[in-house]
Amino acid sequence: MSQKSDKDNASKKTTPQYRGEKKKYYEALIRLREQVIQQLKFHSDEALNTNDNAGEKNGMSTHMADLGSDNFLHDMELSMLTSEGDVLEMIDEALDRLASGEYGKCMDCSADIGPKRLEAKPYAMFCVNCKAIREKHGGLRPDLD
Ligand SMILES: [Zn+2]
Repeated sequence: MSQKSDKDNASKKTTPQYRGEKKKYYEALIRLREQVIQQLKFHSDEALNTNDNAGEKNGMSTHMADLGSDNFLHDMELSMLTSEGDVLEMIDEALDRLASGEYGKCMDCSADIGPKRLEAKPYAMFCVNCKAIREKHGGLRPDLD
């Protein structure tokens, strides 16, 4: 077995031949992935030097609903401060869904997540409705169990 599963190498795979929307989301995901990896490196360096004073300062609430692509990086930065590792995982999962053709569908209710939301968060797994429900229940869907 000589297969490497190093996460850093995933982005160096040959680019799948996506077209149109898929290509756009694919490129956005790859770009984000690079940024998150950079941020992870940066923050892990930083964490060694400072005691965690970064935290949540003013309880920023989520305001993703109507973000356009202009706010995309800014929004990314906010989410990265709290959960870079999770974001990286979500990006990888989104890339898998793109490959399997399930990208853009809510994982709870299978509704289309919608291009606006995907532009703001290309790694979004849930439609706004399902996400809101999950947020109320600490990420779970008691009603779907
Ligand atoms: Zn849904």
